Amino acid sequence: MTEVTPPQKKEKSGPQKALDKLNLRRDIDLALHLPLRYEDETRITPVSALRDGDTAQVEGEVTQCEIQFRPRRQLVARLDDGTGTLVMRFIHFYPSHQKTLAAGQRVRVRGEARGGFFGIEMVHPSFRAVGEATPLATALTPVYPTTAALPQAYLRKAVAAGLRRADLSEIIPQALVPRGMWGLREALRFLHEPAPDVSLAELEDHSHPAWQRLKFEELLAQQLSQLQAKREREHQRAPRFAVRAGGLQERLLGALPFSLTSAQRRVVEEIALDLQREVPMHRLLQGDVGSGKTVVAAMAAAVAMNEGWQCALMAPTEILAEQHFRKLIGWLEPLGIRIAWLTGSRKGRGRREMLEAVASGEAALVVGTHAVIQQDVAFKRLGLAIIDEQHRFGVAQRLALREKLVDEAEGLEPHLLMMSATPIPRTLAMTLFADLDVSTIDELPPGRTPIVTKVFSDARRHDVIHTIATEAERGRQVYWVCPLIEESESLDLQNATETHQQLVAALPNQQVALLHGRMPAAEKAAVMAEFTAGRTHVLVSTTVIEVGVDVPNASLMVIEHAERFGLSQLHQLRGRVGRGSVASVCVLLYSPPLSDTGKSRLRAMVETQDGFEIARRDLEIRGPGEFMGARQSGAPLLRFADMALDEPLVQLARGAAEAMLDRHPEAAEQHVARWLGARSDYLKA
Ligand code: ADP
Ligand code: MG
Repeated sequence: MTEVTPPQKKEKSGPQKALDKLNLRRDIDLALHLPLRYEDETRITPVSALRDGDTAQVEGEVTQCEIQFRPRRQLVARLDDGTGTLVMRFIHFYPSHQKTLAAGQRVRVRGEARGGFFGIEMVHPSFRAVGEATPLATALTPVYPTTAALPQAYLRKAVAAGLRRADLSEIIPQALVPRGMWGLREALRFLHEPAPDVSLAELEDHSHPAWQRLKFEELLAQQLSQLQAKREREHQRAPRFAVRAGGLQERLLGALPFSLTSAQRRVVEEIALDLQREVPMHRLLQGDVGSGKTVVAAMAAAVAMNEGWQCALMAPTEILAEQHFRKLIGWLEPLGIRIAWLTGSRKGRGRREMLEAVASGEAALVVGTHAVIQQDVAFKRLGLAIIDEQHRFGVAQRLALREKLVDEAEGLEPHLLMMSATPIPRTLAMTLFADLDVSTIDELPPGRTPIVTKVFSDARRHDVIHTIATEAERGRQVYWVCPLIEESESLDLQNATETHQQLVAALPNQQVALLHGRMPAAEKAAVMAEFTAGRTHVLVSTTVIEVGVDVPNASLMVIEHAERFGLSQLHQLRGRVGRGSVASVCVLLYSPPLSDTGKSRLRAMVETQDGFEIARRDLEIRGPGEFMGARQSGAPLLRFADMALDEPLVQLARGAAEAMLDRHPEAAEQHVARWLGARSDYLKA
């Protein structure tokens, strides 16, 4: 079972609180907190052997220590070890520096050597006073991931103590540990205190056998917790919905202004099979931007509603929810379906009436933002919940949703369909969503013309504005997206406002509107409605349009400071155009100089338009840790394993997890508790 830390009565010290914050509460948490890298303090390097760029430790006597004022105020000390002289520079220093580094003192110094004008130097090395016989470290010194509030030395002691006290006995049955793998205790001891002769490279790139064991353990815990969730679900019951001849789904299909692509038909079928089962569906529907997921959601909803059950569709932003609402009204109201609309900004009587319609079951479909899962919303019989852009919802919201979903009276859980426009490579899907079934729409509706993507430096901004003006005069609609400045929402806004004014001036005969995150929801909706209706020609916007907006007549997209966006974000933004039959253009403006990763991102944008290829390149450029990002994955899912590089280990862990759940369920539970402690709930969200 999960160990729960009793509430602490004593006021905790700063570092203690910081430990809590890092989730380092139990001895085992500390033992499993592994070094980022190591410092080699096991040997002394002669000054004469130092090369430019070496990180090394030297020891000798200070011969001189003085404050210099040129080129700027700094403390400069010289050390002599008999083989040569090392210069140490400190731009920031305290009186204590001068004391320890006084002439005649013997010190041990560690830092990066630079071949300076005056010989070998170290800037801001670490140092300490030593005697003639101060012993050297016998193991490499670990450097742990930490925060400012938690000094490395404090953390090292805490980890060493945790490692001594923790129960490190083998939980995984021997037969399930891949052949040749190290034991857990052995691997942990080794990683915390590696022998001085070990290859630092193997340690740091996590390829060392000790790391293999830890990664396997971690992946196993993750696979177990997700498989557990999946198996628990097998015992839950859900209402069964069959697709009936002449039913709502068939009528909807007949009423659509287009016919489904074969990929859409296939996933509609996959979902229908799930809905027929008594076990709640947990399916992720992934498909590139514009692949037509909304209509698939409507087709699924139609099956449930035909049997007299309600459906909820939840979108991450109000704009997106509103757009779904309009589209679904167009498709479903003529077929006699009443749709309720629930968002945070809807208050008072309108809201009360909606809630009543939801509670009485009169509204068969409820569309909205996370307001759909708020406390006071009660469904009569919710049969299917659909979450659009599911990764945009926080973990807490996903947990709330699951709680909300259980129908206490009938003991039935609704089916769950999650949609995402960020296609996830296979390994990633296996590690992140081992408990989900995945359907993929791998084809775009016909008649889409490819988008031409062009990259220009900021210096060409005026030319771009000119071109935009000409195109808008010809009746094309334009998105102009302003950069995201993480640190400052107001700067964001300033930039968008200025661009808006510039475009208003350049386009006297056209309607140019501004849309940004700080506008009241109703105003946003109004601006969006004008643009959708074609009355606004140019929409200057911060990234609020990033997800899901669908205005087929818009065919030009300009993204300013494109270098500040992530690759998949750029791809999502670009996906706002190219939805109609006119040839679309996406202009990426950047301000030089571009970093290497910036270059690769923009190049990828020009070279491909395929969301799966984009996801692959994104993974390559950013690395998987960042690929999902804390916001997307919701929890620090994997600390050690690398989803791109460790595919073989993922497979091994997957197999071991299945066998362990079947044959050693208690060990499985212990293993999950050891690794995930109180966080295991989050992984199931
Ligand atoms: P996304 O998968 O990005 O959510 P949408 O559901 O918004 O995509 O669909 C994009 C556009 O394509 C919408 O205007 C939608 O009505 C249209 N669409 C969907 N499926 C088809 C189809 N089979 N044929 C033609 N147009 C379609
Ligand atoms: Mg969508």
